[in-house]
Amino acid sequence: MQVFVKEKGLKQRISYLKSKGKSIGFVPTMGALHDGHMQLIKASKQKCDITVCSIFVNPTQFNNKEDLVKYPRTFERDKELLKNEGVDIIFHPTAEVVYPKGLDLSVDMDLEGLDTIWEGEFRPGHFKGVVQVVKRLLDLVEPGYLFMGQKDFQQFTIISMMLRKLKISTELIVVPIHREKSGLAMSSRNVRLTKEFKTKSLVLSRMLKYAKDNYRFDKISEIRKYALGKIEEEGLKPEYFAIVNGYDLHEVKSSDENYIIAIVAAWAGEIRLIDNIIISK
Ligand code: AMP
Repeated sequence: MQVFVKEKGLKQRISYLKSKGKSIGFVPTMGALHDGHMQLIKASKQKCDITVCSIFVNPTQFNNKEDLVKYPRTFERDKELLKNEGVDIIFHPTAEVVYPKGLDLSVDMDLEGLDTIWEGEFRPGHFKGVVQVVKRLLDLVEPGYLFMGQKDFQQFTIISMMLRKLKISTELIVVPIHREKSGLAMSSRNVRLTKEFKTKSLVLSRMLKYAKDNYRFDKISEIRKYALGKIEEEGLKPEYFAIVNGYDLHEVKSSDENYIIAIVAAWAGEIRLIDNIIISK
């Protein structure tokens, strides 16, 4: 396994591998790796000859400074995990490498409102940062395949639009949400949950499952009200719980819609959690 910090070494290695006909799979992460990330690595290893994993806590996607400062950073441990999983290349750049002075890396693209609803409403500017960093990393790695998690449903919907609009030939592959046995969706932020909130947070996956099991178009507002009430009862502060169309993320408006997902975001004490479930596809 090789670790690159700078652009030049990474690019040279990748073009060498490509010249040998190797397919490249890419898994971008912010580190503090857990089993959820490992599912993406496994998917890449299965499909591609070479797996590249980046670890970069991207400052431009944090709308909350404190969240950026407190974001867990565990590089040595991450490196071990990736080595054990058989990753070929780690890209662990500094902010200066990703955003060199004097280079305009902003991506000016109409995201058709996908970036201002749900996560975008509560985390202004977040998706602008996500689009910018993913575009930059894709320019550096130039992978054939990009692996992202369903956990960040809105993120992969936006990245999928970006690939389409910028005519980038990388294929996006979505990996299902990996959960703890308890049902809690794995997240790097979970290590910051208090023991009490770790238990209370289970209400999120429980309510998503409730929405799936009880879904009927004419019951949407009833389900939503019930779920929000239960989340509050547990002492979490919900930001949204919605049943949306999986293509455009708008609230389901008709019984004819066929790709339906329930999404939720809530504060568990100081930690903001998101989760979702596919109701039908
Ligand atoms: P992050 O390090 O949080 O930026 O996540 C890196 C990638 O891992 C993103 O594509 C996430 O959607 C994905 N991911 C994070 N948690 C999970 C999970 N529990 N299951 C599957 N994928 C995940």
